[in-house]
Amino acid sequence: MRGGVQASCSRCCLGGTGSTYRQRPNAMAQSSQNSPNESVSSCGRRNFLKQSVVSLGVTVQEYVKHRDAEAEKGEKPDHIRTDWLRPPGALDEAHFLESCTGCGECVVACPHGSIRVLKENETPVIYPDEKPCYLCDAFPCIAACEPEALRPVGTVNAVAMGIAVVSQRLCTSGQGCNACVAQCPTRAIDMDFASMIIRVDGNLCVGCGICEYTCKTVNDQVAITVSRERAGILPQAKHA
Ligand code: SF4
Ligand code: SF4
Ligand code: SF4
Repeated sequence: MRGGVQASCSRCCLGGTGSTYRQRPNAMAQSSQNSPNESVSSCGRRNFLKQSVVSLGVTVQEYVKHRDAEAEKGEKPDHIRTDWLRPPGALDEAHFLESCTGCGECVVACPHGSIRVLKENETPVIYPDEKPCYLCDAFPCIAACEPEALRPVGTVNAVAMGIAVVSQRLCTSGQGCNACVAQCPTRAIDMDFASMIIRVDGNLCVGCGICEYTCKTVNDQVAITVSRERAGILPQAKHA
């Protein structure tokens, strides 16, 4: 073997039996003059350095793993909700989209903060489980809408934002809940005490979402939700 030696220090992990490394002549000379204690101390330093390098490597690896996980989390798209309602007086969806300029005046006018802006097209929507429509006197949202995408409704009963639907599977009326009944501003909900079932009168429901909001505040799972199935029926047409 030229210019190399077999390191055989049993206490040095860098050397270890059978590992080969090159030594400079001077170093070899110096090495041969070293006392056994000096040699052990040099092995200790190498061990220490090796441990430090290994632990630095682990730290860097952990950091990279954490950073990548955070980046992945950040890249996840927002959950897109489609269960929104249009504010009261809204035209049918096609005409509403033609008329609404996205000015946001109705959002500002709503004293309850019920109207939010849909990210996709910046149009006004209501998420009834978060904040329903309280069917204000004089409907300030409608009054604020200059482009008339929201049209005057006359009376509360002429509002047609959607219709409430009860999931009998999720409804806890069997255990005595009837919280939504008392909160409905149009008395569209009643409880059949013989069968302990909640019923919605579609002719009275205006889709304000107060029942959905109420249900969510008292139950783990929302059993009454508003579908916008019949939304946008012009107020005059609803009772025609
Ligand atoms: S009626 Fe009142 S609560 Fe409902 S959206 Fe209009 S301003 Fe808001
Ligand atoms: S006020 Fe009328 S036009 Fe403006 S965002 Fe509201 S609905 Fe659209
Ligand atoms: S049933 Fe619900 S959505 Fe319909 S009017 Fe009553 S509270 Fe509003």
